[in-house]
Amino acid sequence: MIMKKELRKAIIAGNWKMNKTPGETGALIKEIIPLAMNADCTVVVCVPFTSIAVAAESVKSSPVKVGAQNVHFEASGAFTGEISAAMLKEAGAEYVIIGHSERRQYFGETDETVNKRTKAALEAGLTPIVCVGELLWEREADITDEVVSRQIKLDFAGISAADASKIVVAYEPVWAIGTGKTATSEQAQEACKLIRDRLAALYGRKTADSVTIQYGGSMNAGNAAELVAKEDVDGGLIGGASLKAADFGEIIKAASK
Ligand code: PEP
Repeated sequence: MIMKKELRKAIIAGNWKMNKTPGETGALIKEIIPLAMNADCTVVVCVPFTSIAVAAESVKSSPVKVGAQNVHFEASGAFTGEISAAMLKEAGAEYVIIGHSERRQYFGETDETVNKRTKAALEAGLTPIVCVGELLWEREADITDEVVSRQIKLDFAGISAADASKIVVAYEPVWAIGTGKTATSEQAQEACKLIRDRLAALYGRKTADSVTIQYGGSMNAGNAAELVAKEDVDGGLIGGASLKAADFGEIIKAASK
């Protein structure tokens, strides 16, 4: 029997956060390219806005894809400091992270704006990587299911099944991001399955089975293999370890098995 997992291509995406100048970007990408050459997963680097153009140039004639870390929902206008989906696309991005917990925590991102940003990204032909996940006290209060289900319902509101299947979801328990505390592979599987079940309730099982659902939160060279082997975990969104080519390479290898 072919498992549903085998029908989905895993995505290993690096979230560089606010690291690497344009001048430093090419050097790291040069180290990543050979590690991605024979990978049986999609490899993406989500770089700062100022590095997108140089990253896009550096990945030419390689399988590595470039992503951004945020996008505004309006097409243009008086939104000082913001960047539109068309601008990202023209600069060379193919993916964009939306609703990362750091955006939700420090920059007032809400499910309403995540939903609007996701629609704008889809309209421009970008692949959104929509981040969801519970806070530590929400997990301790045993409401992970409610929190993540609510995020999925709101973040996908008004999005068609055809568009939903183009979205990548990253399950990122907030307590595991940048803390060195990783969810166990059982916790990651349970939450990713929950997300797939919620998507199935919204769009039907076939669409839900086609969606790539990543795990993110202190994934590293040592724990990646166990996490990405789980049935509903289709790769990872990686922060800290994506800045070290050797570690990122090990994660790519783990997802290629
Ligand atoms: C992230 O930034 O999405 C992330 C998961 O970070 P880290 O891997 O450093 O926990």
